[in-house]
Amino acid sequence: MKKSVKIIIAVIACVLVIGGVIGGYVGYELTYHPSKWLVEGDDALEDIPYEEEVENLPLMANTWQEALPQTEIYTLIKNHFDAPLPEGKTEKKAIVIGYDGCRVDTFRLIETSKRSAIKTLVDMGGQAVFSYAGGVMYPEENIQATSTAPGWCSMLIGRWANEIGVTNNGQPKPVEPKTLLLSLVEEGKADKSAFYVSWDGHFSKKDATYINEKHYAKDNGVNTVFRRALFDPGTKFNIISDLKKEDCSDFIFSTLEYTDHEGHSTGFTPMNIKYVSAFRNAEDAGMDIIETVTARKTYDTEDWLILITTDHGGYGGGHGGPTFEERMTFIVSNKPILQK
Ligand SMILES: [Zn+2]
Repeated sequence: MKKSVKIIIAVIACVLVIGGVIGGYVGYELTYHPSKWLVEGDDALEDIPYEEEVENLPLMANTWQEALPQTEIYTLIKNHFDAPLPEGKTEKKAIVIGYDGCRVDTFRLIETSKRSAIKTLVDMGGQAVFSYAGGVMYPEENIQATSTAPGWCSMLIGRWANEIGVTNNGQPKPVEPKTLLLSLVEEGKADKSAFYVSWDGHFSKKDATYINEKHYAKDNGVNTVFRRALFDPGTKFNIISDLKKEDCSDFIFSTLEYTDHEGHSTGFTPMNIKYVSAFRNAEDAGMDIIETVTARKTYDTEDWLILITTDHGGYGGGHGGPTFEERMTFIVSNKPILQK
């Protein structure tokens, strides 16, 4: 090969690599650091101890000492589908919008929100409550890692995930006990369900948590969609595309990585403006999703349960451990959660 040709190829290769790196960086920044929902004062929150923060959070219908186990999500969904249809309603529907790694003290930011999905659900007649990850209530030492796979799995099976061997990420759960995504469809409570995510640890890798269920669903014709987008805007797009269909999935379970991603990069705390931005972006996506639900032509005749929750909190740049900050979570619903 001529020397000049080699040089041209080398230059083209360099341009492609540099362009790829810059494009990737810009794409990442646009996806995870858009700040259009930030409000004045977001960078100047008063720094108060976490214990004090959770005593004084707005919206909460219980105290942190009365926190519900995160497995309650399963019960709420199961009860919703088992309950008779209210008058005038012809179909049961439910959606979980998961904010991965969202600390409950981000609720300090809601009062000033331009768009808050959490506040919207409470305003629809719902409730926001404290819940906890880790298998037992703080301050008792946790028996389950405050990690992503055990957290979401506990909600989807209604038992602490460590009981079935999902003690951390990268541990495929056995098909049994099945998650609500499969069981609701197999029991005929839902015609179809969908799992929308942007994290590859759910069902996109060999050692992913739900890889066995994904194969089981395919092999047995269970009407459950497992769809992963590369980034959260893609996940939101997948959810909204589904919700815009006349015959949308009856049960949707989704997780958005905004807060977890940013927490790992720059710190899990509302004192961190980038974490604040991530929370506000998750809330904006949540609002887009709720508005798509309520804009459905058949919304008036559908009985919707809409939940927002998180799998764990965070401390410093991580989670998995026993701290109060990692253990406290929340459940927000468009319907009352606590029994009167
Ligand atoms: Zn997580």
